[in-house]
Amino acid sequence: MSTSLSIIVPTYNEEGNVVLLYEQILEVLKQEGVENFELIYVNDGSSDGSFSVIKKLSQNDLRVKYISFSRNFGHQHALKAGLDHALGDAVISMDADLQHPPQLIPEMLKRWKEGAQVVYTVRAEEKGISWFKKITSKGFYWLINKMSEYPIVDGAADFRLLDKKVVAEIKRYPEKELFFRGMIAAIGFRQEAMVFTPNKRHSGQTKYSVKKMASFAIAGITSSSAKPLYFSIYLGSFLAFLAFLYGIYAICISVFTDDAITGWTSIVASVVFIGGIQLLMIGIIGVYLGKIFKESKNRPHYIVDETNL
Ligand code: UDP
Ligand code: MG
Repeated sequence: MSTSLSIIVPTYNEEGNVVLLYEQILEVLKQEGVENFELIYVNDGSSDGSFSVIKKLSQNDLRVKYISFSRNFGHQHALKAGLDHALGDAVISMDADLQHPPQLIPEMLKRWKEGAQVVYTVRAEEKGISWFKKITSKGFYWLINKMSEYPIVDGAADFRLLDKKVVAEIKRYPEKELFFRGMIAAIGFRQEAMVFTPNKRHSGQTKYSVKKMASFAIAGITSSSAKPLYFSIYLGSFLAFLAFLYGIYAICISVFTDDAITGWTSIVASVVFIGGIQLLMIGIIGVYLGKIFKESKNRPHYIVDETNL
């Protein structure tokens, strides 16, 4: 039997992109002579016409599958649903907005056939991406790589091919808060990178608001590492050292001068400063506590409303 391929596409309000992506994938796979494939659209609670467009496609082409969620669960959960259901010997995940060019698929397949078990992609310096996204993304990768044990390449995208062996391992991860880039970086296997230049988003707006990006970043960092919890130890020691120096200074003032009751300003300033630091540290602990809470509730990753799988 010929090898089979699954392509999974998280889709959230992408009615203007669904068909074009299908056509491009079809053309690329035809040229490659790949006939045995499934294209799984994971409809992540779209409120536009995405789902009806996907359904129509699936009626005309039985290789088009869909999993439709009961509400919006988020990009990473949509990826998880795709991986849970994909049957291919190789599984490729890509965005619906055509920023991940289907024209790269042949090269991915070639590397997989040559033995790579993970082919991940890295964005080259991009023209199609706003300066804001560039800066926040640079900062995010810098921070996460300072924290986590397994580095994630700067600009890594959720456009990748996984061998079915890797998919099987990923499916065993029980965690509720998902961050695939971190999980893949730490999973091992033979990995290869491909650099690509993303296209401009074909239709519609980015689905990652600043708020979603921030919570994605916090989730990513705190699910790859427990290091932020140790901040308080370093910062606490540093502040204790400063307090010690200041104490010596205060003693000198009272012993050698007559200005003993100086500056309430410095007291207020240090109280406010230390208060701020404490709140920050409590916040960090809170994030991890929230994670434990989420894991202990053990709710499903996503709820499927309709599927043709
Ligand atoms: N997406 C999703 N659920 C969400 C947000 C995004 O399934 O809650 C999908 C979206 O439809 C797209 C992919 O995830 O296929 C990446 O989103 P987007 O292109 O908006 O992100 P960006 O490329 O701007 O980082
Ligand atoms: Mg995009």
